[in-house]
Amino acid sequence: MITWDEQTDVVVIGSGAAGCSAAIEARSAGASVIVFEKMKITGGNTRISDGGLAAPGNRLQQEQGINDSPELFYQDILKAGLNLNHRGLARIFAEQGAGAVEWLEAELGVQYMDRLDRFGGHSVARCLTTRSHSGKDIVKAQTSRLKQMGVEIRTQCPMTGLLTDGRGNVCGVGVKTRYTHNDPGFKGQKNIRARRAVVLATGGFGNDIPFRMLQNPSLDTTVFSTNHRGATAEGLGAALKIGAAPVHLSWIQAGPWGCVDEVGYGLGARFASYALYPNGILVDPLTGRRIVSEWADRRQRSTAIFKAGHPCVGIMDAQGAGDDPQSLEKCIKTGKVYEFDSLASLSKTFKIPHDTFISTVTAYNKMIQKGQTDPFGKSLGAAQRISNPPFFAMYLWPKVHYTPGGVGINTNAQVIDVCSRPIPNLYAAGEVCGGIHGADRLGSCALTECLVFGRIAGRNAAQIPG
Ligand SMILES: Cc1cc2nc3c(=O)[nH]c(=O)nc-3n(C[C@H](O)[C@H](O)[C@H](O)COP(=O)(O)OP(=O)(O)OC[C@H]3O[C@@H](n4cnc5c(N)ncnc54)[C@H](O)[C@@H]3O)c2cc1C
Repeated sequence: MITWDEQTDVVVIGSGAAGCSAAIEARSAGASVIVFEKMKITGGNTRISDGGLAAPGNRLQQEQGINDSPELFYQDILKAGLNLNHRGLARIFAEQGAGAVEWLEAELGVQYMDRLDRFGGHSVARCLTTRSHSGKDIVKAQTSRLKQMGVEIRTQCPMTGLLTDGRGNVCGVGVKTRYTHNDPGFKGQKNIRARRAVVLATGGFGNDIPFRMLQNPSLDTTVFSTNHRGATAEGLGAALKIGAAPVHLSWIQAGPWGCVDEVGYGLGARFASYALYPNGILVDPLTGRRIVSEWADRRQRSTAIFKAGHPCVGIMDAQGAGDDPQSLEKCIKTGKVYEFDSLASLSKTFKIPHDTFISTVTAYNKMIQKGQTDPFGKSLGAAQRISNPPFFAMYLWPKVHYTPGGVGINTNAQVIDVCSRPIPNLYAAGEVCGGIHGADRLGSCALTECLVFGRIAGRNAAQIPG
């Protein structure tokens, strides 16, 4: 018999985009809601993200005459996911993505920049970015809305376990209260009853080295992560403990734009992601040759660098660097990106065999000029030549960035067991879930997916009879 210390209709665990979207929808549907967050600050990976959101058919695409559709988006998602994607989930994500991004703007007041980005693996430019180029905009808008709605977010309160009644229905959670990360001597433990449902939105496990090594031993301490410190697996583990199905846990994404000269994600990675990969080339410094399509999805690019066995060099010219001038300036000042007035001085500094390197760049420029086919499969129609000095270069080595695997859910965002039966009263959304992206996800698809499934989870959780 569980002794309850408190009760509410819906308990949400995690205060990132998925958890907050769920909480907003559950409260809007009339349920009382409490959000528990283990860290001192809200927002998890959402807060430190770039705020990029894929939205097929968005306003900027229409203004720029870019043809896009949920179907094209869906096909891109399946291709990047190696067709391991759970089709029903991927379909909902593709169809509801644009609407969710609009919801963030229209209902919560998040503003987007006047820029469209195309990341590797997307057929067209379809990514919108929040005004401050950061997920902070989303966290701020969502947490303020929750405050207005009277929903409390309790920080420093990690969930310790999901509680079930004698029939396997989830009926609440255990939480540590006023816990500090550096002080494992926590001050209290409470059992919180969820009269209707629990929504698990604890994010991914990119920073949980023992757990990720359990799934993929090569991702050891030598491979850094871009994630916030709290991106660990205990929320996922709590669901597995009560019978949730594990899905695709060993498919762990390493971001190919990891900058060797900084900790975490950082500006170097942002510059590589937004300017260098879209406009430049990636070269193995030992051979002076390209190793992959710079527009391939993240998995393909990271695999190519890991295969080279050492950091590779991203190279671009002045025109391409113009896509992210602010990051560039700071990256040069802090020694993450190097500037050269000629390709010869670049190859000398990075110890790249000069003649082969020059042939690589010349051949690349010629392919673009003549409309030839790239042997690596890059579609060169919108690619830029590397010809206008100054030239810029940086070392790139992948960092663990995203965990596409997690608990299995169905299209109602109900957590399912290994027989695909819903675990009563347990919902999940965001990076803690697996299946939507299959083997890998495309850039700017995580936040959109958190909004889509967070909203579904919150709405459905509120409908459970109390
Ligand atoms: C540097 C960086 C840049 C990124 N940029 C983009 C981008 O531009 N576009 C994009 O689509 N994606 C991006 N991503 C990925 C994206 O940010 C995440 O996948 C997404 O924010 C996950 O949201 P979430 O709500 O599932 O989890 P999170 O935002 O991580 O929130 C989960 C929360 O749950 C809390 N939590 C965990 N366990 C417990 C527990 N036991 N009890 C209580 N609370 C718990 C965590 O502390 C955290 O606050 C980026 C990721 C990183 C790291």
